[in-house]
This record gives sequence, C-alpha cells and structure tokens, in this order.
Amino acid sequence: MATDFLAAAEALRDELIERRRDFHRHPELAFQEHRTAGIVAEELNSLGLEVQTGIGKTGVIGILEGAEEGPTLLYRADMDALPIAEENDTEYASQVAGQMHACGHDGHTTIALGIAKLLSNQRESLKGRVKFVFQPAEESGGGARSMIADGALESPAPDRTLGIHLWNDLEVGTVSAVSGPTMSGVGLFEVTVSGKGGHGAMPHQTADPIVCAAQIVVALQSIVSRNVDPADLVVVSIGQIHGGSAHNIIPQSVTFSGTFRLFREETRDLIKTRIHDIATGIASGMGCRAEVDLGLGMGAIVNDAEVTAHARSIFSRLGDTVNVVEQPWMASEDVGLFMQRVPSAYLLVGSANHARNLDYPHHHPRFDFDEDVLPLSVGMMSAVIADYLGAG
Ligand SMILES: [Zn+2]
Ligand SMILES: [Zn+2]
Repeated sequence: MATDFLAAAEALRDELIERRRDFHRHPELAFQEHRTAGIVAEELNSLGLEVQTGIGKTGVIGILEGAEEGPTLLYRADMDALPIAEENDTEYASQVAGQMHACGHDGHTTIALGIAKLLSNQRESLKGRVKFVFQPAEESGGGARSMIADGALESPAPDRTLGIHLWNDLEVGTVSAVSGPTMSGVGLFEVTVSGKGGHGAMPHQTADPIVCAAQIVVALQSIVSRNVDPADLVVVSIGQIHGGSAHNIIPQSVTFSGTFRLFREETRDLIKTRIHDIATGIASGMGCRAEVDLGLGMGAIVNDAEVTAHARSIFSRLGDTVNVVEQPWMASEDVGLFMQRVPSAYLLVGSANHARNLDYPHHHPRFDFDEDVLPLSVGMMSAVIADYLGAG
C-alpha cells in the first residue's frame, strides 16, 4: 500500500518542482513571508482544508479532517529564507537581491503542500486529522514561539508531531531517522571585555582589552577538549569580535559573541559555567573586567523511539527507495517547541547529489538540492501519516 503513495507523489513531480522553483525565485525573510503564506493558504483552501492565516504574524495552519474520528497529527514546515546573496545561476535563482532559500525551506513548504494534496484525496479513509503548520521565521528564531503564542498547539491539540528537514550531508534516497537526540540544542553568549585604553606606543599605561579578549577566545576552545566528556558532542564557536577604531589606539573595550551546541541538556550548565569562569578569570588576571551575557538557549530535538520506529517501518515497506541511517545533525531548530508535549519525530532527509554538484552545505550562497527529494518526501511522509491515521 505504501508504495502507492510513492507512485501518487511521482505523478505530482512536475507540479512540485514548479512550485518549489517559484518559492525559490521569491525568497522572503523572517516574518515577511506574505507572498509564500498567500500561496500556501490559497492551495490549502482549494484542497478543501480549514485554513487559518496570520498565526504568529505570517504563519498558516490548514486542518485536513478525516472521515472518521481519531488522533490529530501535526505536520510542520517552515517557510522563511536567509539574508544571503545567491551565487547559483540556475533559471530559478533568487530574484531578490541579498535574499535566498539557502536552507531548503522552499522544499519543506512545497513538500507539505504535496502531502496535503495526496492525503486530501484519501480523506474518506483517514481516522483523525492532519494539522499542517506552515511556520515563519525559523532561521532567526521566534517563528514557532509566536505561532504557539497564537494558539497553534490548541484546538485541536496534536497527539503527535512530525516534520522533516532536507539535508545536504546525505545523498537523496537516504534518510536519517534517529531515535533520541537528532538535532542539537543551542546556547548564545556575548562577552564584553573592559580595560583601560591608551596610546598603542605606551601599552604599559593601559589594560589592553584586545590582548585579553584574544586570550579568552583561545582559552574557550579548551571547554570542548578539556571539560566536556569526550563521548559527549559539543561545539563552542566564536562568530564575531569587535573592538578598536585605529591602528595606534588601544581601545577601552572589546566585545565578542558566539554560540554553543549540545545534545545532552545536562551539559548546558557546565558549558555556561566554564564560559563565565574562563572569561572573568582571564580578564581579572590581566587587569581587565569581563561581563558575560548568557542569552536564552533552546533544547535539542529529541525523537520519540516509538514514533521513529513507526516511520522506519513504513520506509522499510518502500523497498530499496529509502536507505535509513541514524546520523544526528549539529544544528538547531525551533521545531522542538511543537514536539515537546507529545511523542514526535523530526527526520533528516538526504537531498544532495554529489555527481551533479548539488552538495553545498546549508546557508552557503551556492546551496541547492536534488529535486528528486520532492516527490520522494511527499510519498514517504504521506505513507507514514496515512498509516498512523488508519489508512495505511
Ligand atoms: Zn537554516
Ligand atoms: Zn532550516
């Protein structure tokens, strides 16, 4: 039965590719997804779903009611693009200067609409309903939170949440379905080192915050190598550093900021404490002062064992089409906010094609993916959802 969904999705191939390319030509940044949301709402309406717009600013919800009573499955897709100037010269390259779908969210939106179409044809055999959530502002954060604040997890509340992220670390045809932590949690930090400015030729009269900040940046590299259990996956990276105004002036202060990623929430306190202690300790030893701001973070995406096993069992029925692996991704996602109250799974769907050079990493100006993943994802996720809602 499951293979029928693959065939039905394959019949939509041209339509899916056309729609994805249209989204790709017209990327929209966080909370500005007006055109995308309009197309989504129009398509959901035409499929006969109950549609709500303006949820969490630019989010859209579509509810597909099955013929009989049953559970509610929430399927989440994100719609936002990135402030990156596209360097691809495909005929469907971005037409908006400085903005680009460089993470595959154009694909996610297209795939969710494809699933809505396939399952709306199956409405008579569905027991329960699918709540399609099209989320704004995943990249900058805040989209899931604002949709939930507008009631996206209520009436009806989900019994299960599913979603996918296209992933260029894997070839198309391979899916990472990890039981347990599958995408990392994240934390942010900003450090301001204050010293005493002065003339570059007379450093002995200053407390140099540049030399101090440099020492701190190097020392922070020891958190992963010397404080965290080697079997635990953690990253600490500094993303920006600002200070100074001229070659011969030692400035009053230097600010730098960074991010850390982790899979085990138990490790978060250790990382935060080490960042604080290293920064303040080195600063005081060098006659400076460090202020450490450890901003709000987000937890890892943790897949439920049973929901993941169910998806894997459906994929195994698709024969050789889907090769399932268990490979976590050291990136973070706010889909976890839709997953936290109910058993859920977020799957990483291979979208690369090395032979065609479609394997640039996410957020790269030449990012693109193999569009074979569009019908494949529509087919396999429709099969999983239909089986859960008793129509397998
Ligand atoms: Zn991204
Ligand atoms: Zn993304």
